[in-house]
Order: sequence, then C-alpha cells, then structure tokens
Amino acid sequence: MIIVLLGPPGAGKGTQGERLAAELGVPKIATGDVLRAAVRDGTPLGLAAKAAMDRGDLVPDDVILGIMKEALGGPMAAKGAILDGVIRTVPQAEGLNRALAELGRPLDAIVVVEVPDDLLIARLSGRTVCEKCQTPFTGLEPDTLCPKCGGTLVRRKDDEPAAVRHRLAVYQTQTAPVIDWYRANGGSLRFVDGVGTLDVVLARLRSSLGL
Ligand SMILES: [Zn+2]
Repeated sequence: MIIVLLGPPGAGKGTQGERLAAELGVPKIATGDVLRAAVRDGTPLGLAAKAAMDRGDLVPDDVILGIMKEALGGPMAAKGAILDGVIRTVPQAEGLNRALAELGRPLDAIVVVEVPDDLLIARLSGRTVCEKCQTPFTGLEPDTLCPKCGGTLVRRKDDEPAAVRHRLAVYQTQTAPVIDWYRANGGSLRFVDGVGTLDVVLARLRSSLGL
C-alpha cells in the first residue's frame, strides 16, 4: 500500500505515520530522510543534491523526485510505503504520480489529517525545548528549568503563536490546491479527524484505509 499523508504542522502525522508504517510493515518515507540517505550513500542523485546544498541552493524538485522514485522502487518499499511530508505542492503531486506510473505502482490513498487551527496553535505554542540538552517538552513554560538537566526551557521562534499562524496559512495556501488536484485526478482521498489521543486518531486512520 502506498499512502500519502497530508496534514498541518502539529497534527501529529509524523508519529501516526510511524505507528501505521510499523503496523503495516512498510517504511515511513520522509523527504529529508531519503535525501540524507542518498547523500550519505553517494548515489548520483545524492551527489547532485549535495552539490546544490553545498552551493546553498534548494535541492531541485526533479532531484528530490528522482531520489523518491529510487526509494519507492527499491526493495525496502516492496510492500508499500507511507509518504510523510513528501507532497506539499501540486507540482510535487504531479511528479509523484508520474514516478509511480513509471514504476507501475498505484497510489492507494491520500489521507488528510484535519485539526482545527486554534488547537494546533495551542499545541505548537505549548512546546518548549531545553537550551542545553535539546529535549522537547509539552506543557512546560518557557524560562522554567529542564527536568532532565536543569537547563533553561525556551520556545522555538517557529512555535510562537504568530509564527504558527503563519505556518498554518502557508499550509492552507499550498495544500488546498493539492487536495483539489487529487480530487480532479482520481486520487483516493480520505479525511481523518486528528483531534484525540494518538490511539484514537490511529484507529480512525486505520478505519479510513479499511484496515
Ligand atoms: Zn535539558
């Protein structure tokens, strides 16, 4: 089963994707992970990606897509894969569809995890991280002490409410057209309520996939 996971920052789809992948016995593939692996292994596309990064450029979409296609065509993904954070824009959705068609593999489902903005803002701005040991915490205030090492807890700039609102706006602007594109191109879309405990949301994810 090849599944694309879509969801706003803070929706927890990284964790849910990992659990679902473990249950299905397939890898969870995130763009950053396959990119780092290709660079580490020194594959031709990995070298092209490294050259772009060394120049301080973004890795071009076609290089990322090529690396993704190699990962999906490899033995690791023989039974399928959960793609997390791989599709953010319409060109990426088009590219993935082409790559899968070339591999002769279907995209079984696009699962959209939905969480209301105010909850995401509360979730993300409720996170702090220890300045010293980098451990992340939820529910501990900035400027209090790290329970692990006594360092000072800070809130990442990215997690300030204004920054979170901006990240959510970017997500909406990019993702709404992606959902429309899948709808127009025969994608099998499933919408899952992402409010609740990890177990509850995971059960909804499973049932949305008929598992
Ligand atoms: Zn610490």
